[in-house]
Amino acid sequence: MRAGTVVVIGGGLAGISAAVELAEAGLPVCLVESRPWLGGATCSFARRGLTVDNGQHVFLRSWTSYRGLLDKLGVADRVDMQDRLDLTVLAPGNHARIRRSGLPTPLHLTRSLARYQLLSPAERLMVLPALAGLWRTDPVGSGDEIRLGEWLARHGQGEHARRTFWDLVALPTLNTRPDRTNLGLARGVLAGLVLAGRDSADIGVPAVPLCDLHSAPAVALLNRLGVHLRLGTKALAIRANPAGGGYEVSVLGTALLCHEGQLPFDRAEPELMTAAGVVLAIPAWEAAALAPRELAGPAARWARLAPSPLVSIHVIYGRPVTGLPFAAAVDSPVRWIIDKSRAAGLDRGQYLAAAVPAADRYVDSPVASIRAEFIPALARLLPGAAGAAVEDFFVTKERRATFRQVPGSTALRPAQATSQPRLAVAGAWTSTGLPDTMEGAVRSGKLAATAVIDALASGDRPGRSAPQPEPAAAAWS
Ligand SMILES: Cc1cc2nc3c(=O)[nH]c(=O)nc-3n(C[C@H](O)[C@H](O)[C@H](O)COP(=O)(O)OP(=O)(O)OC[C@H]3O[C@@H](n4cnc5c(N)ncnc54)[C@H](O)[C@@H]3O)c2cc1C
Repeated sequence: MRAGTVVVIGGGLAGISAAVELAEAGLPVCLVESRPWLGGATCSFARRGLTVDNGQHVFLRSWTSYRGLLDKLGVADRVDMQDRLDLTVLAPGNHARIRRSGLPTPLHLTRSLARYQLLSPAERLMVLPALAGLWRTDPVGSGDEIRLGEWLARHGQGEHARRTFWDLVALPTLNTRPDRTNLGLARGVLAGLVLAGRDSADIGVPAVPLCDLHSAPAVALLNRLGVHLRLGTKALAIRANPAGGGYEVSVLGTALLCHEGQLPFDRAEPELMTAAGVVLAIPAWEAAALAPRELAGPAARWARLAPSPLVSIHVIYGRPVTGLPFAAAVDSPVRWIIDKSRAAGLDRGQYLAAAVPAADRYVDSPVASIRAEFIPALARLLPGAAGAAVEDFFVTKERRATFRQVPGSTALRPAQATSQPRLAVAGAWTSTGLPDTMEGAVRSGKLAATAVIDALASGDRPGRSAPQPEPAAAAWS
């Protein structure tokens, strides 16, 4: 490995974005990813001739960091971006449509909200002042201490309004039940959706499988930028290098040993990499375990961010059951439906993927019982699905899809620059002001890379790097 190399650990969107930034700044970079592919929580697999995503991934026009990465990857034409927000909201036996007008923000949504027929006229009148009140809350102070559900109840939002309107905004974006959701993060979602600009909430969806949107193009871009890619290589430990600053990263190559999803790490010898700097771009819980002992104090806080599961239901119908490319849903265990037929390569019938966020109730359920509940639930939302033959039904479960965005979590999210010179953390779980999303991941990667680039440029002069190291608590093993 070249002298002065920065090692990026983790090849999700955060690690990819950090590696791109570092390489574009002219630094030698090595990216270490334990799986044999890049993309992390955004990945695909093959099933019966289709390419299936582990879960639906939706984004907004206002997500400039994520969309900037798509541009760099050369895949901006592999997504479908709405010209204008137009979202059908399904409910059993009913539906509504949210469309933005050409008026300036926030007036661009008022007509849609005034006509949102899943709420009664009285409820609609109450929603607009509540939206304005939510905007005035403090996102990081009291906003980090209060639950959205509690706040809504105090601001005249009844159970029905919560289920049919507020769940729509908060549940899919925060992957946490609204009665438990962190108020400050919900406010951030609202700002991104409504207030960032008239077109901020226009929705984008991948037109190809995630492996063709993120993984393969990232490998190609990083190769072009001269990044040394170590796929199928797990970082085992990091320690400050006593000789000459920087870090030693202990890694274990596993790619050649991969067999049927098993990674028998015990059959290979660890290897020591010398790094001028490190970007630790792995999930909070794993970062906490891997952090060098000087970061034991902060790492103990990262580990307190609890995971939240997301379950995806995949149904292949024998015939088309809806003309909608995607839709949100309320008053149903299904929260979001996307037509994945074209992206997955289905040429007959229709493939719908349905997302079930905050899926604690379902993550341990057998597929048969999920099927028994969700096929009828989909038919209640989509009349065309009633009676349609189901040719395939399967479920993907991500137990640690995001961190649980509950009160107190904002205070646990670290800035990307740490107290350790030239060691930064990245990941959608770090402090970005955003929920755990693709935009947050990419933004965190850029911030972490900038922290390392600045520290290297300044030679870690006193005053440039972050404060004193935390007391050591864990031993190097
Ligand atoms: C099913 C599902 C649906 C989602 N839907 C949406 C959505 O619609 N919109 C949206 O914006 N976001 C969505 N998200 C969230 C989004 O995917 C994440 O916020 C984002 O991808 C996280 O990226 P990351 O790089 O921070 O972390 P990750 O993607 O988790 O990447 C971390 C990487 O580190 C690697 N790693 C871990 N430990 C080690 C180690 N010791 N050594 C080397 N490598 C290691 C992992 O293998 C992984 O590749 C969804 C997530 C899931 C799971």
